[in-house]
Amino acid sequence: MTQASLVIVLIEDDPAIRLFLRTGLGAHGFKVFEADRGRQGIIEAGIRKPDLIILDLGLPDMDGVAVIKSIREWSAMPIIILSARSAEQHKIDALDAGADDYLTKPFGLGELLARIRVAMRHSLSSPARSQDNVFTTGALKADLIKRQVFIGEREVHLTPIQYRLLSVLIKNAGKVLTHQFLLKEVWGPAYRENSHYLRIYMSQLRQKLETDPAQPQYFLTESGVGYRLKV
Ligand code: CA
Repeated sequence: MTQASLVIVLIEDDPAIRLFLRTGLGAHGFKVFEADRGRQGIIEAGIRKPDLIILDLGLPDMDGVAVIKSIREWSAMPIIILSARSAEQHKIDALDAGADDYLTKPFGLGELLARIRVAMRHSLSSPARSQDNVFTTGALKADLIKRQVFIGEREVHLTPIQYRLLSVLIKNAGKVLTHQFLLKEVWGPAYRENSHYLRIYMSQLRQKLETDPAQPQYFLTESGVGYRLKV
């Protein structure tokens, strides 16, 4: 994937961070358009039709979560959020509103570039996903039509709930999924608070599918937030 043509809209009120990102992303071939207010950012997103949005959650004129909701009314473009370390719940609300990923301030440029690559990969592959029945990452392979799961050549048998959890992760591969989102998708809206279910089943998936369940390569923990299936 070439990054040369990628357009980013950056919505951030802190001039120092804007300068850092304009310089850093510019040096990597991205075209960056900036907004220092939420409303202006939504307009920029509409005009520029960017490949990706980088959004600070703490904006002077409106809440970052409201910016996400507004953009999600008309676009599925990837949104990476920037948040302060103290704002855990805010970050979770943003992910539940449709953000793809997050970075906690302060962050490095290398970290951001990695998140951009993942978000772009997810966004480019998702339209084809309905025809693309076989998901692979590393040695993990899942055939979503035949409902078969393999590690290398070895077929692994999953219980219906383990499979359901895996298939939700696969449909959103690369994205950070919150505990609440996963509970709702796998068990239903009434189970949003039963996070121990999720812990148990995630641990079972790791036992069955990871080489070393204590050092997962595929089923990554996003501390305090949720999980991500590595792509
Ligand atoms: Ca801010």
